[in-house]
Amino acid sequence: MKSGFVNIFGKPNAGKSTLLNALVGEKMAIVSSKVQTTRHRIKAFLTKKDEYQVIFSDTPGIIEPKYKLHQRMMQSVKAALEDADVALLIVDVTKDLTETIQVFQNLHLKVPSILVLNKTDKLKQDKIEAIKSTFDQSSYKKIIAVSALMHKNLDELLSSIIELLPDGEPFYNEDELTDLPTKFFVSEMIREKVYELFSEEIPYQTAVIINEFKEKESLIKIQADIIVQRESQKAILLGEGGKMIKQLGTLARTEIEKFLQQKIFLQLFIKVKPKWRDNDLKLREYGY
Ligand code: GDP
Ligand code: MG
Repeated sequence: MKSGFVNIFGKPNAGKSTLLNALVGEKMAIVSSKVQTTRHRIKAFLTKKDEYQVIFSDTPGIIEPKYKLHQRMMQSVKAALEDADVALLIVDVTKDLTETIQVFQNLHLKVPSILVLNKTDKLKQDKIEAIKSTFDQSSYKKIIAVSALMHKNLDELLSSIIELLPDGEPFYNEDELTDLPTKFFVSEMIREKVYELFSEEIPYQTAVIINEFKEKESLIKIQADIIVQRESQKAILLGEGGKMIKQLGTLARTEIEKFLQQKIFLQLFIKVKPKWRDNDLKLREYGY
């Protein structure tokens, strides 16, 4: 039996969450076309009885620590680096890779790593080969071209990962999928809808807290606060006559019901907490 921890690194938008979802086959990490949606480390397990258990972590993207929130994200990236058995470094092949190559070199990886060239569905084969050759082959155990979105070449990636895992007993039961509480996924799904509906600074200045999660006879009652920094942002989230918050609620409810396989009653409140992103105490309260 092989088992161990595999951490997924890469710039925001490279496709870390999509890859995690594709490998594990569940919607574990929220996916959005906007950057920095994954503020927490998300763990998901992939177990095959008597063969392997892979414990994947999706990490926040590698970014500059501009705010305290970002510093915390970098701390969790570093922490993730130190406890992995295998690192997946994922890049978006449609982007300029000069900076990425530099960032990866600065990570000084001590764990075996696989370079994952993602979004190859968008490029021709000869272009992909050319990109492959720009990376230093000796730094990686393998360089594998995939499309996380189209599920292309993921079998090869998975078998390469398993090959690199240490021998050992599984850490979790085979029927477990994650070590995160359901509440966490529910708040992430609400946050995902904020990303979908609003542009520019709104999503980045938003946090979601679940205050109530009660299983009633025929449904689950969920009450969540959406925290913003300014009154003007609250007004945007509400929309004319509460139009936007209503739409947000409907979209989030549909998504959460799909995930929980159960009817829910979702109540959303918007609260203004100035500068929550720069406030240590608040960040802790919101779980960052
Ligand atoms: P993360 O920030 O690294 O977690 O990136 P996400 O997984 O959230 O993906 C960012 C965007 O890239 C989303 O719009 C995805 O649908 C898209 N994406 C991810 N993987 C692929 C891929 O293999 N091909 C294409 N064309 N798009 C992808
Ligand atoms: Mg992500």
